[in-house]
Amino acid sequence: MARGPGTRESVTIMAVNIPENIARVQERIAAACARSNRRREEVRLVAVSKTHPAESVRAAFAAGLRDFGENRVQEAQSKRPPLADLEITWHMLGHLQSNKARLARELFQWVHSVDSLYLANKLAQAAASDAARLPVLIEVNLGGEASKAGVRAGEVPGLAEQIAQVEPLDLRGLMVIPPFIENPEAVRPYFRQLRALAAEIEARKLPNVSMRELSMGMSHDFEVAIEEGATLVRVGTAIFGSRE
Ligand SMILES: *Cc1c(COP(=O)(O)O)cnc(C)c1O
Repeated sequence: MARGPGTRESVTIMAVNIPENIARVQERIAAACARSNRRREEVRLVAVSKTHPAESVRAAFAAGLRDFGENRVQEAQSKRPPLADLEITWHMLGHLQSNKARLARELFQWVHSVDSLYLANKLAQAAASDAARLPVLIEVNLGGEASKAGVRAGEVPGLAEQIAQVEPLDLRGLMVIPPFIENPEAVRPYFRQLRALAAEIEARKLPNVSMRELSMGMSHDFEVAIEEGATLVRVGTAIFGSRE
């Protein structure tokens, strides 16, 4: 095959085709669901748009996505005005400082990163009395990494019991960002552990607690996560390209 001029070729290779990337991710999600005898509707694709401009979100929306995730309140805020015409469900994925709870409550319809009762209460207080309920997940630090947010596995049942009583929050499940390991197979035990922890809490039949949602799996390991029960996969790079 004849090669074109070097520079032009590399530009073509680097260009990110968001609709095509989404189509490929959707195929991989469908295949992972088929392998694990799950229905496609059980898995929600959350497109992680952090560091990418509002136009990229618009392109992904046009390609059919409705759930988007960000990890910084400020950045999320700056992207809202140009996207105000789109019906998007926004997911907060990053560590949330309690002094940003009020703003986060305005900007997001889901919070995946609740890691204390204090934060849960702040999110609850930030809501107007007639506000919609807020689905939340507890972020679990399964790797015990000091650099990562989230609560240790042993503390999750107690925290779940407390958050269950905070109105108008709806505790729906757990979220994990496992230690980064290149080989997705090596991440599988963490996903299993998250599912087991959710099942253990569900079995206690705490009032107002449903642990159905498992937010796990990113660009390099979402297929393994789906095989292990993920209901929310958070995919950035595989849709929008790299973030450097
Ligand atoms: C950035 C981010 C993702 C997406 O990661 P990719 O590897 O780009 O798919 C998922 N979850 C959280 C919490 C993130 O901060």
